Amino acid sequence: MIKKCTFCGNKNFRNCDVQYIYRHNGKMLLVNNVPCVECEYCGERFFASVVLKRIEQDFDAICNNGKKATRTVKVPVEEYAGIKKLP
Ligand SMILES: [Zn+2]
Repeated sequence: MIKKCTFCGNKNFRNCDVQYIYRHNGKMLLVNNVPCVECEYCGERFFASVVLKRIEQDFDAICNNGKKATRTVKVPVEEYAGIKKLP
């Protein structure tokens, strides 16, 4: 699907399954075990457009069509300025 890393120019990739975070209009969807190829040199990940399309459709089904996600997680949120400095 991809021959050359668009970031570093490396030509070697490995297949892997990763967690993908889809963001749209301030909402998020986490999808586990999404297939992608990862650049062996810089670690940049590339996803096939059909894979991204499928995630986008699922996000739409959950946000706009009442589909129930497999599970929901609560995520703590911080402002960087409010995080204590290291000693
Ligand atoms: Zn690369």
